[in-house]
Amino acid sequence: MKFARRHCLRETEKFTVSLSESPTVRFYVPEWDDNVDAHYDFEHDEHSKLNPSERDLQYIWDIFDPSTLPIDGVLISREQVGESQAKHDRFVEHGVYEPGSHLDVPDWLPTISDCGAWGYKSLPFPPYDNQEMLEFYDDLNVSVGVTVDHLVLGSGEAGRLYLDERAFTNSFTEDDLPDALTDTFDVMVAAWPDEWPDYVEEEAPAVYETDSVDPFDPSLFEGTAETVQERLSDDPRAVYRKDDTQFRYELTLQNAAEMHEIYEANDYSFRLMAAVQGWNPASYAQATKKTLQQGYQYLGIGGVAGSPTGVVQDIMAAIGNIVKEHEREYTTRIDTHVFGFAKTDAFDTAGRSGMTSFDSASMLRSAWTGGKNYHLTSGKRYDALRVRFPQNGEDLSTSIEKALRAQELLHALRAFDDNESIAEAIHAWYQTAEQAIEELDSYLWEHRWDDAYNASRLRDIKEHFRSDYAHGRELKGSFSTRFRRRLAKLLRADDPEDPVDRAEYETLIENAKAVLQDFPRMLAQVEQQENDSDRCGTFEQVWLLVKDYATWIGDEGHLDAYEELLQAEPWRECTCTLCEEYGIDIAIFRGNNRNRRRGFHNKRRFYDQFEDDLPKVLVVTPATAQMSGPPTIESHLAKHQSAFWQVVHDLPVAEIGTVSAQGFHEWWEPTPPTVSLDPDQMAASLADTATRYQEIFVYIPDHPLRDQVHDAIDGEDCQLRQYTDPANLRQAVLDRLGYEADFLPDHPIQTSLPGL
Ligand SMILES: [Zn+2]
Repeated sequence: MKFARRHCLRETEKFTVSLSESPTVRFYVPEWDDNVDAHYDFEHDEHSKLNPSERDLQYIWDIFDPSTLPIDGVLISREQVGESQAKHDRFVEHGVYEPGSHLDVPDWLPTISDCGAWGYKSLPFPPYDNQEMLEFYDDLNVSVGVTVDHLVLGSGEAGRLYLDERAFTNSFTEDDLPDALTDTFDVMVAAWPDEWPDYVEEEAPAVYETDSVDPFDPSLFEGTAETVQERLSDDPRAVYRKDDTQFRYELTLQNAAEMHEIYEANDYSFRLMAAVQGWNPASYAQATKKTLQQGYQYLGIGGVAGSPTGVVQDIMAAIGNIVKEHEREYTTRIDTHVFGFAKTDAFDTAGRSGMTSFDSASMLRSAWTGGKNYHLTSGKRYDALRVRFPQNGEDLSTSIEKALRAQELLHALRAFDDNESIAEAIHAWYQTAEQAIEELDSYLWEHRWDDAYNASRLRDIKEHFRSDYAHGRELKGSFSTRFRRRLAKLLRADDPEDPVDRAEYETLIENAKAVLQDFPRMLAQVEQQENDSDRCGTFEQVWLLVKDYATWIGDEGHLDAYEELLQAEPWRECTCTLCEEYGIDIAIFRGNNRNRRRGFHNKRRFYDQFEDDLPKVLVVTPATAQMSGPPTIESHLAKHQSAFWQVVHDLPVAEIGTVSAQGFHEWWEPTPPTVSLDPDQMAASLADTATRYQEIFVYIPDHPLRDQVHDAIDGEDCQLRQYTDPANLRQAVLDRLGYEADFLPDHPIQTSLPGL
C-alpha cells in the first residue's frame, strides 16, 4: 500500500481543487503529550539538549506535511491538560494554536476539546461547571467544545456508593471496607476535588459545603449495607444513588440543555457539540432524539471506548437512523463524532450511519504497548526489535555492558539496512569506543579544573563535557548514561583546593576498559561469513548478533518474531517520511524517540486504510451573491440553492458546502459578511488547499467552470466532476461510496454495553 491519494475513476474532467483541508470523515488524535525530540541523536542515543525544556519538540503535525499528515484534527481533554498546571496555564493563556502553548497546532487543523469523562468516572459528579467549561474552550481557542458529560457506567449492584478517598487513612484503607458493603453496593473510591462546581450545592448540599475532610471512623461501616448507607446519607464524604445509571444519563442531557442556552446567549467562536451517553442502542437513540430537540447539530457519542466492535456498530446504527430521520424531516444536516473508537472493521457501518469523525490513540500507543508494534496494514504487523537501555539500580559494569552490546547491535542493524559490511561497521564502532575511553584520562587531567566544571548543577557539567570532550557523546552511547554521570560527579567534586584523588578517575576508567575487553563480540564470525559468501549486510550475518544479543538480554522468546521482521524488512515497503528518514530505527523498540516515531508511522498506515474505506469526498456548489444575506451557509443553501440542498443535505461521508473566492464554506458555518466571486481568485483559492480530497462533486446549474479553474488544478491529484442535475450528483456520490439508495444500516435495539 502507498499513502498517496488513490484515484481510480477518470470519466469526466480532472483537476485538483484545494478547498478546506478538512476531509470528509475526520480522524482526530487525542493530545497526550505525544512529542519527540526534533534533533535526537540516534547514533549516540542522546537528546539534543540535556535540559528537557530547551528541546525543540515535534508533534505529529510537525513531522508530516499537510498533504500526508495522517490526522484531521486534535482532541484536547481538560482532564489531560489539568495533569500539569504549567501546561493548563500555557493553553489557557495563549490558546492551542499559538507557539506559547508549546502545542502550536497549525491553523488549518481543527481541534475538539472535551472534559475527558473517563478521567473522572469514579466521582459522583463531573468536577466541571457548564459555564466555566465554555469559557475554558473559548480560552483554548479550539474549533469545537463538548458539553459536560458523565459516563453511563453499568453495574449489576443494588446501588452505587461513592466515597471520598481522602477520608481513608493508613490504618483504615479501601481494602478494609467490609464485604457486606462491597458485595451489596458498587463502591467507588476516588479523591474528590477540593471544590465542587455550584450545581452540586443543589444535588448534594452536604458534599458541597464541606471545606475539610475528616478521616473515616471504621465503625461507620459496621452493620448491614443498608445501615451503612443510611448512616452516610448526610455525610460530606459519601454519595449514594440507587439508580446511578439513570442519574448520569439525565445529568448529561441536562448539561447539554443548559450549555446550549448559555452558548446561544453568548458569542463564542467555537462550535458546540453535545455529548451523548447511553447504555444500549435504544438509550443512545433516545438521548440522540432529546439532544436534537434541544437544537444541536453536532453530536458526540461517548462511553463506547473499549467496547466490542459489534456493540458500537449497533449504537452507531441506532443513532444514525434517528439522525437521518431528523435530517429528512427538517431538511437539515447533523455531524456526529464517535469518541475513543476507530476500528477498521466498523468503517462501513460508520459511513452508512453518517458518522463524521472519530478519535483514537490506539494505533499510536500500540507502538510500545503489547506485541506487534510495527504496522504495515491491519493484517500485517511485526514485532519491533527490542534493544534495551540499562535500567536503574543495575551496577556500573552491567550498565556499561548493556550499553556496549546495544551499540554494537545498533551499528550492525544499520549496516544491514544499508546493505553495507556489518564487520566494517562493528569494527569502526569499536575503534571509536576504544578511542573514547583511551583518551579520557588525559582529557580529564588537563581539564578537570576548568571553570565550566565548577558549576553546581550536574546537568551543566554534563552539557559542557559532552561538547568539550571530543568523545563526550560516544561515552554516553557506548558506556552508558550512568558512566558519564559518575564522571560528571567527580568533575564537580574536583577542586584545586581540594582535589579528587586521581585514582578515583582511574578506577572508573579501568572498570569501563575491563568490560570493553569482551568486545567486539561477533566480529570474527561476521567477517568469516562475509568472506565465505562474498556478500555484505545479509540476514544471516546480522542474525548472529541479534541472536547473541536477544539471548543474553533475555528476549530469546522474541527471536521468531525478530526473524520475521528482519526477513521482511517492512520499513523498506513504507514510504512514510519517518521510515524514509530513519529506516530500521523505526522498527527498533528503544525509548520514546524511536517508539513514538513508530507510533506516528502506525498512524500513517492506519490512515491509508481509513481513506480507502471512507474516501475523502466533497460536495460543493459555487457561492452566489445572495450568500451574505442569511446567517448561515445552511440557511443560504436552503433558501437560495434549495434544489441542491434538498438532495445533498443527508448524504453520508461527504462534506458539503459552497465555494467562493474566499475558499470553502462548510454547511454549518456562519456566512461571511461579504462574498467575493472573482473567478481568478476562486480558482486560486480552490487550487490552494484541496490536497486532502480524493473526489469533488460540483453542482453547477448554469454554465461550466471556467478555464482558469481547470488550469489552476490541472496536474493535481484529485478528481472533479460537474453536474447540472443535482439528482445525478447524489447518485454519483452514493455510487462512489458503494452505497445503495437506502444506505442506512439496520436499526438494532437489543445489544447492551458490557457490564449492563
Ligand atoms: Zn513508515
